[in-house]
Amino acid sequence: MVLIGVLALQGDFAEHKAKLASLGAQTIEIRQLKDLEKPLDGLVLPGGESTVQGKLLADLGLLEPLRERIQHGLPVLATCAGLILLAENVENQAKRYLGTLPVTVKRNAYGRQLGSFTSLLDFADLGQVAATFIRAPYISEVEDEVEILSKHQGKIVAARYRNQIGLSFHPEVDESDSIHSYFLKICQTK
Ligand code: GLN
Repeated sequence: MVLIGVLALQGDFAEHKAKLASLGAQTIEIRQLKDLEKPLDGLVLPGGESTVQGKLLADLGLLEPLRERIQHGLPVLATCAGLILLAENVENQAKRYLGTLPVTVKRNAYGRQLGSFTSLLDFADLGQVAATFIRAPYISEVEDEVEILSKHQGKIVAARYRNQIGLSFHPEVDESDSIHSYFLKICQTK
């Protein structure tokens, strides 16, 4: 059985845990340094508020150890605020957090009117997936070697670089579990 760490400082980590558990994975909430002593097979960075999560990560001394593990190949699924934490660049702010995913994201990219919406996306090998966007970022630039997994109206909303997957939307709030099982497969074969 795989053990997945779910960052649980803020945001919708409970929904991710429930999805992963329903697929037979074991989960552990990552709240402090000692939670990283467990032999994790994967890591989930949930949606929420990236500024809050980023500050807590820094205050708790979690940024560097997480960055190191990700750079050493720990599979990571980052959704929405999590994608902002993972991105190498954030277009409309100076702050950087983990910075391991070689993409540029734009925060709150859909403006106020389109703050939240759902859409059906074509997602790499998975076919169509329902996607819920909540004050979402999109990916405005990717470096070579980054695989584009999905676009919405011409904007990149899902990308993969080696062991790292970043999504603009929230697969944990929808009924389908296809994205979580896609991620678990990566964790099983890492
Ligand atoms: N707008 C949030 C941020 O910038 C992300 C929203 C979300 O995770 N649903 O951090």
